[in-house]
Amino acid sequence: MRRYRNTKIVATLGPATADRVRELVETGVDVFRLNFSHGTHDDHRAIYRSIRETEQALGRPIGIMADLQGPKLRIGTFPDGGITLEPGDTFRLHLDPVEGSRNRVQLPHPEIFAAARAGTELLLDDGRIRLRVDQSTARMLKTEVITGGSLSDRKGVNVPGVVLDLSPLSDKDHRDLSFALDLGVDWVALSFVQRPEDVAQARRLVGGAASLLIKLEKPAAIEHLEELVEMTDAVMVARGDLGVELPPEQVPGLQKQIVKLSRQLGKPVIVATQMLDSMVHAPAPTRAEASDVATAVFDSADAVMLSAETATGAWPVEAVAMMDRIIRAVESDRFYHALSAASHEAPEPTVSDAITLAARQVAETVSASCIVTYTVSGSTTLRAARERPPVPVLCITSSLRTARRLAITWGVHAVHIPREERFSAVVVRATESALAEGFARSGDKIVVTAGVPMGTPGSTNVLRIERVP
Ligand code: PGA
Ligand code: MN
Repeated sequence: MRRYRNTKIVATLGPATADRVRELVETGVDVFRLNFSHGTHDDHRAIYRSIRETEQALGRPIGIMADLQGPKLRIGTFPDGGITLEPGDTFRLHLDPVEGSRNRVQLPHPEIFAAARAGTELLLDDGRIRLRVDQSTARMLKTEVITGGSLSDRKGVNVPGVVLDLSPLSDKDHRDLSFALDLGVDWVALSFVQRPEDVAQARRLVGGAASLLIKLEKPAAIEHLEELVEMTDAVMVARGDLGVELPPEQVPGLQKQIVKLSRQLGKPVIVATQMLDSMVHAPAPTRAEASDVATAVFDSADAVMLSAETATGAWPVEAVAMMDRIIRAVESDRFYHALSAASHEAPEPTVSDAITLAARQVAETVSASCIVTYTVSGSTTLRAARERPPVPVLCITSSLRTARRLAITWGVHAVHIPREERFSAVVVRATESALAEGFARSGDKIVVTAGVPMGTPGSTNVLRIERVP
């Protein structure tokens, strides 16, 4: 089962899709996000198993990302699931557990009560609802509704412009992290990263058990952008919270800056949130949403992500199908390759980049049908993808974990194969996989790269042009 596109699709699972994993993969999902802001460990375990069963049944490595809630601020719950607020209403927020109603809800975050003053604005549900504090005490905030709307259980709260003293990993995050690592997730996503120390701390906790992805959604993170991207394995432009913490007009430019920097540093980058938001309720997106997905694809992001569209939406499979169609349309547009060539990243002075760049040029010169990289750690394959070559990158690896982690990466189709000790055996595997996976036909040329001697990470030093028998 191969995809006819380079840009990958990440989908968030939730009540709408917990039992539709196989359908989603067949429609186009490459990586699943388990959102630890919602659901119990039992829910996540059941979904995790169902993804792995699907992986087994389809014979395709699937990436699984555990997205930790981080210090996300959320309101409590309402007996009937939600309320509607009108401008001018008085609405109270209580530190202590209270039953939610039209007039009040719990807000279990003492840091907000410590920082809020009369006049402080609170933004709820991705900024859709705006409250202004009239009176504040250590346990209660009396607010006036400035912008109303419907408000449901556990919606997020942002306090823009106010520095809250929050640690990057809550107690819940620690519990969720060890649970997720025990399950065997491939990626851990860190929310609300602000400082390099946040990433270093997470890295110590995760060790080598999973790859680390940072979500850029705080203004403070933007101040340390380059250092943060250097420290992580992958990046998410988390536009939901970013566009609430910062004025929305700043988000498009930042998105381009983050995608460009991540590509330069060879770190996979995901553009996320509200991409096909109207498909939560409708079977088709707006023109503007289609254009938004297209922009990320034209910018050569590694992946685009669906959140509520697939977690709770009414049209989850349709949303994936739509994303797949938009990506394929853009990638066959005549401007796509020109734009990609214009934003080509210069190689670094390493043997691995020299081979990788050569592989791309050789593939073009001899019209090879694909580049096959044999890798253990996946690092050479990432460099090959960074080249954004015009032919697919087929990764063959004896590490199932590497194959799964690479599911997020632009243009890479990873295949899990037995370990090989000799280069000649790798070349045989490469031709077999290229044929079996539909990347080459008998008589085609393929370009194979590997590191000799075998099995040393990052040692890629050979390139071979091989004719498929
Ligand atoms: P979230 O992160 O969906 O976990 O909030 C993504 C975002 O903020 O855009
Ligand atoms: Mn967020």
